[in-house]
Amino acid sequence: MRLEDAARLTHADWISKAEETRARAETPLFIGGQFVDAARGGSFDNISPVDGRLINRCAAGTGEDIDRAVAIARASFDSGEWSRLAPRRRMEVMFRWAELIEEHAAELALMDTIDIGKPITDMIRVDMPQVIECVRFFAESIDKVLGSLTATETDVLSTVLREPMGVVACISPWNYPLLMAIWKIAPSLAAGNSTILKPAEQSPMSSYRVAELFVEAGGPPGALQVVNGLGEAAGQALGRHMDVDKISFTGSTEVGKLLLGYAGQSNMKRVSLECGGKGPHIFCDDLPDDLFDRAVRTAIDGVFFNMGQVCSAGSRLIIHDRIHDRFLERFAELGRTAYVCGDPLDPSVNLGPLIDHGSQARVLGMIERARSDGAQVVFGGSAPQGALARGAYVEPTLLAGVGQDDFIARQEVFGPVAAAIRVRDDDEAIEVANNSNYGLQGGVWTDNFRRAHRYVRELHCGTLFVNSFEEGDMTQPFGGFKESGNAKDKCFDSLLAYMNAKAAWFRLN
Ligand code: NAD
Repeated sequence: MRLEDAARLTHADWISKAEETRARAETPLFIGGQFVDAARGGSFDNISPVDGRLINRCAAGTGEDIDRAVAIARASFDSGEWSRLAPRRRMEVMFRWAELIEEHAAELALMDTIDIGKPITDMIRVDMPQVIECVRFFAESIDKVLGSLTATETDVLSTVLREPMGVVACISPWNYPLLMAIWKIAPSLAAGNSTILKPAEQSPMSSYRVAELFVEAGGPPGALQVVNGLGEAAGQALGRHMDVDKISFTGSTEVGKLLLGYAGQSNMKRVSLECGGKGPHIFCDDLPDDLFDRAVRTAIDGVFFNMGQVCSAGSRLIIHDRIHDRFLERFAELGRTAYVCGDPLDPSVNLGPLIDHGSQARVLGMIERARSDGAQVVFGGSAPQGALARGAYVEPTLLAGVGQDDFIARQEVFGPVAAAIRVRDDDEAIEVANNSNYGLQGGVWTDNFRRAHRYVRELHCGTLFVNSFEEGDMTQPFGGFKESGNAKDKCFDSLLAYMNAKAAWFRLN
């Protein structure tokens, strides 16, 4: 079912579709175009964060499965069936793939909602359109990649060719299961690599289905395989593999650092990292009323959307002294009710549970610690009771009176928690914003262009928004500085990052 039809489904429709999907939700490994059990027969429980019920048992791939998938990927790459396919033929397969994803959009959306408890409305409205756009963007880009002739002596032809790298392993997180996977596998495939995806263990369902659709679209089975498994087993085996040429990773900074280590201890494979964040969202004191109101509403979405499980969330609200109290008052007035906790299958719900009960306990513990460090809980701060008590829910929470060096201002929460920090002036705002190990995304709201320009120049973030937040399209590079990582996703340059530049020097005389 396509998105426009899915948008008309009711809560009851989604419940019945979810039951059907759960009933056939098997997730064996997808190796060489076949669904197979893990070589050692291992599996683990996939538990719903909505009610603690078992969703299914997932095959747990280990090093042996990774070895098998890598050998198939290498053979496929060497055969040239995908890597040397004429760019326009590769493009046709990718366009067919996008078409199939569009036809199955409701099914794929539901899989992510079941796995991680993400509101179905967000899947239909946000994730799936971006998934489809991403595949089309990289399909369109395939024959726009140019090599070059360098400026050199007359009797020399000096060329630079762009070639696929070989076997690329993509390791993805659970917070946008299909979208984060597609941001990696689409450019990797477009570049001609044989690609292995290890999805997050909490959210494998949609990855298998999308890989199956790639083969249905005409992609060779060795070009895209999916091997789920625990990070320390399947993920580490990819990271240490001697025949994997590149790892493209999105996930925590902690695991990103491990992957750099694995590469150094194995074959020096390229490692592209998209890791954590603690986004500064700055509000200056020169906002006219309409911009002020838009700023508050955007700040609320910037930190509570997707239950705050967003690497680029604007989780540090850095507010100029003169508007601080008025800003928090309006934030509290709107923010208390903007996000409704409930069953993620209900199209009117926009706040589901966190990924699991461990995460819920961790986030509640961080709120408690902030409180004991002196922060005031303006609203939220606990888990909803009653019908939702079995789920891993946390209420949207606003903490005021946070100091820039407090634990809550420095640690990524990955939950719906905003920390408000009061600042005197632009100098202090910039100092506070840059006082972080992370540097992924930030935003600034001001009515003064010169001021905005100074913030853009001085903030250490990979992406900055002025009078907006979390917008953008496929042309915009997404990625951070410092411990937020070293890569860019989405843009045309990210396609080049899945290719090697090869220099050739032809002596002509
Ligand atoms: P995570 O690091 O725990 O897991 C991410 C992936 O790494 C999973 O597939 C996991 O199985 C795998 N993994 C775990 N241990 C591994 C190991 N030792 N070797 C190899 N692979 C291993 O992260 P998560 O909890 O799934 O996701 C949340 C984190 O991801 C947050 O920190 C968030 O900021 C970050 N994130 C970043 C971006 C970005 O684009 N910068 C986007 C989304 C999420």
